[in-house]
Amino acid sequence: MNLMLFGAPGAGKGTQAKFLIEKYNIPQISTGDILREAIANNTEMGLEAKKFMDEGKLVPDSTIIGIIKDRLAESDCKEGFILDGFPRTLAQAQALKELMATMQISLDRVISLNVPDELIVGRITGRRVCSKCGASFHVEFNPSKEENVCDYCGSELIIRKDDNAQTVKSRLEAYHAQTAPLIDFYTNMGVFTELDGTKDVSDVTKDMIAALA
Ligand code: ADP
Ligand code: AMP
Repeated sequence: MNLMLFGAPGAGKGTQAKFLIEKYNIPQISTGDILREAIANNTEMGLEAKKFMDEGKLVPDSTIIGIIKDRLAESDCKEGFILDGFPRTLAQAQALKELMATMQISLDRVISLNVPDELIVGRITGRRVCSKCGASFHVEFNPSKEENVCDYCGSELIIRKDDNAQTVKSRLEAYHAQTAPLIDFYTNMGVFTELDGTKDVSDVTKDMIAALA
């Protein structure tokens, strides 16, 4: 099953990806997580990407497309994958289409989590993420069982550097200007399903599983 989770920053893609990993036993591919790991490892790519991420801007397409090419070639993607936060521009979507054609695989479904901008700020400023596995929690809407401890791997929860009201504004601008046009791209491919992402986490999961049945 080759899936894509689509939506604004903070729409709940990472949160829902965790349920799909368990249900389908396929990996989540989050370009944001891969970039944050590169920053933590002080790689050249990480240092370059950090400048864009700290300002809430998109990292250049060439960097992102390179990351995805390498990642999809890994053996754990053979039975499928969940794309999370990629693609974010038409150039990325086009590159993915060509890459998947070369690999002789196709996209089964794009699940879009619809959440209006006015809810996004509260979601992002209250987000806590696992410093190790990247799992996402919310202080109010989706708290971890133990404060500041990841439910999945027991590591410490942290606040992402770009999760502040200032950066959210530019991330939402980038989403509307550069990413939202992909809705037409995937609607025309006949694989686009829109869900109400404002429901409780468990209700969104139920809708998503029903959409994939
Ligand atoms: P994305 O991966 O799309 O950027 P996340 O999955 O990290 O978004 O979710 C953003 C924030 O919103 C997190 O703090 C998460 O716990 C919270 N969240 C996710 N889904 C819901 C939901 N359905 N209702 C309320 N809060 C949610
Ligand atoms: P995310 O973890 O998906 O919220 O992404 C965090 C940041 O990483 C974004 O604000 C961008 O700066 C960068 N990023 C992640 N994925 C992409 C992508 N597909 N294209 C461009 N930039 C990205």
